[in-house]
Amino acid sequence: MPPERQCPSCKEVVPDWHFEWHAGDDQKAIYEGKLAMTCPFCGAGVTYDGFDLGPASPKLRKAQRDITKASCWARMNGGGSLAKYLQTEIGQPYVGLWSRRKVQAADKSEAKKQDQD
Ligand SMILES: [Zn+2]
Repeated sequence: MPPERQCPSCKEVVPDWHFEWHAGDDQKAIYEGKLAMTCPFCGAGVTYDGFDLGPASPKLRKAQRDITKASCWARMNGGGSLAKYLQTEIGQPYVGLWSRRKVQAADKSEAKKQDQD
């Protein structure tokens, strides 16, 4: 969400922008135009109003996707881990976002959380 949309800056089609990987407050700020999403290919700031993507002003601060949210999302969507998801075609653009060690740590603590539920 939003899937298969072109980056207004580099024109690459991003398989999934992973808006939902942002922290709740950041998601709200992105909708309100107070923060930009970051293109996984070129790193440009991109605005998102819940429907359309647009080029962000260079002055607009860019939100960082949250590894805990990403790991939780990966587990919920297909039952895998973030490490596994980053190996897929859709997940591939985000592989450089976090170190392998950080991804493993996030997946581990996410697995622990699930066991407690
Ligand atoms: Zn781009």
